[in-house]
Amino acid sequence: MTSAEIQPSPAFPGVRGHHEAQAMLARALARGQLHHAIMLIGPRGIGKATLARGLACALLCPRAPGRGCGECPVCRRIQAGAHPDVDWLLPEGSGGQITIDSARACHVRQAGGPYEGAAYVVVVDPADALNEYSGNALLKAIEEPRPGIHFILLTTNMQGVLPTILSRTLPIRLGRLDDADVAAIVDARAAEVADERRRMAVLLAEGSAGVAMELALDPALDRCLALVREAMRAAAAGPRGIFAGERSPLWESYNAAIQEVVSAEAAAAAEAAADEAAASGKKKRSSKKKDAADKGDGKAKASAAQQRWVASRLAELWVLHLRERLRGRPGLPGAPRLADPPPAELVRRLAVLQELTQRISRNANVRLILEETLLELGQASAH
Ligand SMILES: [Zn+2]
Repeated sequence: MTSAEIQPSPAFPGVRGHHEAQAMLARALARGQLHHAIMLIGPRGIGKATLARGLACALLCPRAPGRGCGECPVCRRIQAGAHPDVDWLLPEGSGGQITIDSARACHVRQAGGPYEGAAYVVVVDPADALNEYSGNALLKAIEEPRPGIHFILLTTNMQGVLPTILSRTLPIRLGRLDDADVAAIVDARAAEVADERRRMAVLLAEGSAGVAMELALDPALDRCLALVREAMRAAAAGPRGIFAGERSPLWESYNAAIQEVVSAEAAAAAEAAADEAAASGKKKRSSKKKDAADKGDGKAKASAAQQRWVASRLAELWVLHLRERLRGRPGLPGAPRLADPPPAELVRRLAVLQELTQRISRNANVRLILEETLLELGQASAH
């Protein structure tokens, strides 16, 4: 085993990407100079919590100190969120804030030092969920650093973090992940999902593994992909493709996509209700879940928000397709093989679709906006 210092690309257990941040943290650990309070700042789903777990392994692992082995019982318990020397301060209740009681508990706890290992790690996820009271309680703990006590604060929104907290932490900015890293994460965690949907999810997520996982597991993505293909055909066909009525492939796939979103939302709401019931001690959680999911399959009425969601996803996927074509790549799988327009025309269509996204967010009549946009896209492809 070589030391962390001469590892060309040190990787804490479970962490992908963020090579510079990992190298910097590993060097600081090797010198025994890790700042006792660090703030990991970066977009949603890029692995801030994963890095916090990996760093906790590096601090506590007896087998590979300063790096973490990822396999010993200590590392495994940290990864599973079950190590007594790693506390997570998370928002509680409907307010979505970290309570003063849990922040105080950390302060009291740190005075006693670690239970088992050489370090006590407090992860605050997210730091912007600290309010004035819990923030002040935690501040006391951060201001009295003791050997072996480490605070790792996470945030997507630095402006939302109390300035007093921010000023006492070492900020570390994390960027988006490479598509290859996102793909590896999605392939490992959503192996059961079809290849096509996984690929789309990675392309759409723009470097966020969390977003890619949500998309990969979202059945509405397949429906939206089908809708984009029909919309491309309809736009190319012009008015006779666009105004062909409810039974036409375009509007049937539009309605199917909306129904999928309605069902998914109903199922999610049912699951949340079932979880709440289970938490409050009621039985029959699984059957409740099933009942509610069955209801979700019915033709529930789509709200304007759900129509907007589908239309936005349509625009997003189409934009992605055009960008891929501009880069000389194949674009969306199964997209109709229409004559490829010159790059200038692809760029013009991109602008039309970006306009669509903005109009959808302003206007309630989603269907009308979609029709107008498809006409506009079609006129361009007619020559
Ligand atoms: Zn270990």
